[in-house]
Amino acid sequence: MSSDLFTPEQRSAVMRRVKSRDTTPELAVRRILRAAGIGYRLGGAGLPGRPDLVMKGRCVAVFVHGCFWHGHDCARGSRKPKANAAYWTAKIDRNRARDEASQAALTAAGWRVVTVWECGMKADGFAERLIAEVRDQAATVSASATSSD
Ligand SMILES: [Zn+2]
Repeated sequence: MSSDLFTPEQRSAVMRRVKSRDTTPELAVRRILRAAGIGYRLGGAGLPGRPDLVMKGRCVAVFVHGCFWHGHDCARGSRKPKANAAYWTAKIDRNRARDEASQAALTAAGWRVVTVWECGMKADGFAERLIAEVRDQAATVSASATSSD
């Protein structure tokens, strides 16, 4: 009767795959960029840290980070499970160290790194700010403001 269902092993394998790729925040970011007509590639393009989205023409690499997994400095990111606390702390510390190293390597190679935090996506104006950051409009505005003479 249950021959068409996954075994528990298969199901957890599928769940892992679904969770590591195509997470809901990443899909939301992709929707915003698509709506703005900004093209991107998935899969990291062989870059350090495998950015979630890569815009080669703009030299922009976008990471979409879950606050818990990447140890964000926010309420959700600082919450630690009570069970196996040492394990989680070590794992999250490793993620943070890897994130910093990837970002440094990308910046050194001429990429602009845009990091989207899960918690920031609920804020008003998130989509507008993301689009401006990817287009580097914030930098353009401040540059023209300082050269007004
Ligand atoms: Zn956060």
